[in-house]
Amino acid sequence: MYGKRIDGRDFDEIRKIEAKIGIVKSANGSAMFKIGDTIAIAAVRGPRDLYPKFMQNPKSGILRCNYNMMSFSVDERIRPGPSRRSREISLVTENALMPAVNLEEFPNAVVDVFVEIIQADAGTRCAGICAASLALADAGIPMRDMVCAVSVGKVGGKIVADINKYEEDYEDGSTDMPVAFLPRRNEISLLQLDGGIKKEEIIKALEMARKSCEKILEVQRKALMEKYQNG
Ligand code: UDP
Repeated sequence: MYGKRIDGRDFDEIRKIEAKIGIVKSANGSAMFKIGDTIAIAAVRGPRDLYPKFMQNPKSGILRCNYNMMSFSVDERIRPGPSRRSREISLVTENALMPAVNLEEFPNAVVDVFVEIIQADAGTRCAGICAASLALADAGIPMRDMVCAVSVGKVGGKIVADINKYEEDYEDGSTDMPVAFLPRRNEISLLQLDGGIKKEEIIKALEMARKSCEKILEVQRKALMEKYQNG
């Protein structure tokens, strides 16, 4: 049994979070989102014309996400360039953000979202989604809602919020469940599951994720307010 968390957190407690808007001057919108030792930076370019033309949608702009873990983001060097994992995470990031943006005003256009993980201690796809949502808002992209994401799961028989790398690698395995929420619409836009978990435990974990996302939203909102209060 996992009696006490390695970093002393309560089982439903997320790591310390920080967010900052407008950190990449060359982008139309950008943000940093930090949760514990996991740090994501997101930059948004667009809306701009999409090429090649056959990819254009005359009814709406499209969202295109690119997730990347930097070579130095973990102790063991990550091989640069796309991988199966980065392609999967780019796709789930896109799907998690899509319901929150409204690109109908931008036919034939693309909004590019670049997510760079500069430091990784698990939960990088979720940190990337939180940063990307802020960067989209900073870029002035019409949005229906923010997107907040956190990884919950099961470690040594306990349901925990915001799993770190130690917990993900825990003894005889853990269950990792990344979740993204649109808080105002009360919708889930990402739900993945890696490992075993019972039905009633999923419900408990989801409730933990929803509560964690409320805390994340508070930090996101504060970061946006700070930027606009400072002009
Ligand atoms: N990780 C790593 N090397 C890799 C990929 C991942 O060390 O090539 C670590 C990193 O800390 C990452 C964690 O494993 O955050 C969990 O990765 P996973 O694929 O579960 O996605 P994440 O939880 O980061 O969204």
